[in-house]
Order: sequence, then structure tokens, then C-alpha cells
Amino acid sequence: MKLPHNTDTIVAMATGAGDAGIGIIRMSGDKALAIADALFVAANGKKASSFKTYTVHFGWVKDSNEIIDEVLVTVMRAPRSYTREDVVEINTHGGIIAMRRVLELALARGCRLAEPGEFTKRAFLNGRIDLAQAEAVLDIMRAQSDAALRVSMGQLEGALSSEISAIRNTILEALAPLEAMIDFPDEEIGAVETRQARLLVRQASERLSRLLKTTSYGAVLRQGLHVVICGCPNVGKSSLLNALVRRERSIVTSVAGTTRDTIEEIIDIRGIPVRIVDTAGILAPRNLVEKKAVHRAKHQIAMADLVLLIFDGSRPLRLSDRLLIKTCRKKSVCAVVNKIDLRQRIDTQYLVKHFGSCIALSARKGKHINLLEDAIAERVLQGTVVAGESVVVTNARHGAILRKTQKCIAESLVSLDNNLSLEFVTQDLKESVRSLDQLLGKEFSEDLLERIFGDFCIGK
Ligand code: GDP
Repeated sequence: MKLPHNTDTIVAMATGAGDAGIGIIRMSGDKALAIADALFVAANGKKASSFKTYTVHFGWVKDSNEIIDEVLVTVMRAPRSYTREDVVEINTHGGIIAMRRVLELALARGCRLAEPGEFTKRAFLNGRIDLAQAEAVLDIMRAQSDAALRVSMGQLEGALSSEISAIRNTILEALAPLEAMIDFPDEEIGAVETRQARLLVRQASERLSRLLKTTSYGAVLRQGLHVVICGCPNVGKSSLLNALVRRERSIVTSVAGTTRDTIEEIIDIRGIPVRIVDTAGILAPRNLVEKKAVHRAKHQIAMADLVLLIFDGSRPLRLSDRLLIKTCRKKSVCAVVNKIDLRQRIDTQYLVKHFGSCIALSARKGKHINLLEDAIAERVLQGTVVAGESVVVTNARHGAILRKTQKCIAESLVSLDNNLSLEFVTQDLKESVRSLDQLLGKEFSEDLLERIFGDFCIGK
């Protein structure tokens, strides 16, 4: 279904409004060039509407005779532009007043303020990119690690879309002879065709499974791995957090914890965004306030994807250590023995027996921190080999659609294997094609577009 396409000329600030060297006001639509003519005076005296595509021109934005700002104007003519419409970008000085005045002037000359994500939505509606690619634009803006950026870029370039299209084609290839057999039942029953169709459906199913296997890694790329550092007081939790943060030059954010008792950092470990929370020595309550803190720490542990359970190697395990081990028994835990620079008195055998392995390091000396990083990355990948260019499903909507598709395909295979009526088979296969169409945006509703593009910022 195609929606009636709104052809107003839209305008928005494409860069954040704040102190910056330049700010970009972006216009897109049929009247973008005419509106540029009405507000821009080029130093060479030429009209913006006469500029060649992909050229940049120096001049002034003027309101009657008042110079608003000294600017550079870039013209990108349809269809070779971000939206496939005529696009004009005005580089103003970065201050909010200059940007706002230029924006207001564009509105006064006939533009409409763009809705969130409307430029990208137009790129989609005008057929330059499919829906999965449009969603990748948002992921690129939100990427919090190199790996997340790489995967989203691949998706924007069409890596996911082409894999989905290939699966879709395989299903269609299986579908065609089956439908022919339904339409012309008198023809010789094509055992060969059925066998061939089954083979193709299996192939599609295997490719879908491979994609689905990437969704947990994809979710980590999208949301970050939630790691909680936990351990008794003085085992070295804060020191370990510091050691991890110090090593990573690409710290994305450093945010205050949700409460005063937790410290949270987002760091990049082997390309994986890791949201790491230190429960800062709050697990031995001495009073009511601390009791509440313990409660919050337990909540953090419950929410964690991975708990780093820290022990002080220079002393034997205590009852409080064992209690913590018990608290974390249902979690994915990585046991860490800290302070290996001191004489070791801990029973590592016990830990290894309990957790399968443990990592010995010194947070203070920064020794063997890399082993811990390897272990964290290993937990995320869990044997999924993710080569640089491979397709990873990061989007929750895509994951849900792929699961639904896989279910339809599995049902069609059951029908085929049990020699049920071919109508059952083709119905499921058609349903699976339809759901892949929803992923690519060959089928969509206004609702869905609103949900997807509503998450974008204005100007994108
Ligand atoms: P927390 O209460 O678990 O957060 O522990 P801290 O990080 O505050 O560390 C407690 C004490 O142990 C501090 O005096 C640290 O300097 C010390 N410490 C932390 N890591 C090491 C280490 O690897 N070796 C040694 N010798 N001391 C450490």
C-alpha cells in the first residue's frame, strides 16, 4: 500500500541548536529552489535556482535588505538527493539566533516545518531506501560503539535488505510450482516439483535461522550489555570499574547512576557497548538507608545481563562472599579474583568448581584486565562468529517479523512433510512473504510509519 505523498516543501534545523561552528538548515521539496531564491543572495549574483546540482555557493541570507547571516548554500537536485526531491542546505553560523532567523524566513517564504524523521520518511516513500534502511539511519545516530555503527552502516547500505530479499525470492521460487499444481490439478502430479519446493523452503528456513541467531548480539549492540560489578566491601569494585574505564579510550558516556549508590559508565569493549554499573560497597547494610541501597543493588543484579562477581584474592572466602554467590545463583556470572599482586589466600578451586572458571587480575595494577575484557566479549558472542561484514539483526521489529516468518515456514514444512493439501502449504508460504514485505516496507500502514519515524529527531 502506498500512502498519498505529501509534497509540501519542508524545512528544519539539521544540526543541533547550540554553540557550534556551523549550523545547517535543510529544505526539501518542489519549492526548495524557489524559496532559496527568495531568501539567499549569492556573492556571484546568480539565483539559487540556476545553481548546478552538488555545487556550493557563498552569499548572504537576507530579509528584505537586512543581512541575517553569511552562509554557504548547497543545492542537490532531484532525484539525486537524500529525499529524491530538490534539497537545499544552508550552512549558517552555528548560533541558535542565526539558525532560528534563517529557519523562520524559510517558513515565511513558504516552507512547512518538517515533522520528526520526515526527510528520511520521504527518502523511503520516494523509493530511495526501503524501510529497513530508513530504520538503519536512526540506529547510526544512536550507535554507541564501533560495532554498532558498522552493523547499522551495513544495514543502510542494504546488507540486511538484500539478505531478506534473497530469502523472499527463495520462498517465491518454491511457491510458484506449488500454486501451479493447485491451479492445474489435472496435470501430472509433480513429485519432483514438490521435492524441489521442499528443498527451497528448507534453504529459506536455514537462512532465517542464521539471521535469527544474531538477534541477541544485535540487541546488545542496540542497548548495550548491562554488566553489574558486585562484591563485598573493599574487594576492589570501584578500582575495577576505574581500571576498565581508564583502558578504554572510547568512553561514550559517563552518567551518574540512577541512585547515589551506583556509578554507571558506558564503555566500548571489543566494539561492544557495555553499560557497566558499580554497586559500590553497598551490600553490607549497617542502617536503614543502606538497607534500601542493598535492595537497589539486588534490583541491579536482577536486571543485569552479566554480573562480575569480585573476590579479594588476598583473603579466604568469607560467609558474606558465599552469600553473594547465592544471591547471584540464577545469573550469568563471571567470577573475578582481584589483588593478585598480594599473597593469595583464596580458594580458587572452589570458585572454578562453582563458576566453571575465574579470572585473576589486579585492578590497582591494571594487570590482566584484558582477560576480563575477552571474557565479557566472549559471553556476548557466545560462539556466534560475527565477521566485520556479516548481517546482524539489531532491530526489535525485525526480530519479531523474522520469528513470525520462521513460524509460517516451519508450518508449511510440516504440511509438506505430511502430504497435506497444497493449499495449506501455499497459504503459510504466502504469509511468510507478506511478513518479509512488512520488514522491507513493501507493505506498511500509516501507524507503523508514525511509530518508526516518530522516534527520529526533527531535521533527519
Ligand atoms: P570496593 O569497596 O569494592 O569498591 O573497593 P575499592 O575499589 O574501593 O578498593 C578497596 C581497597 O582495595 C582500596 O584500598 C584499593 O586501593 C585496594 N585495591 C583494589 N584493587 C587492588 C589490587 O589489585 N591490589 C591491591 N593490592 N589493592 C587493591
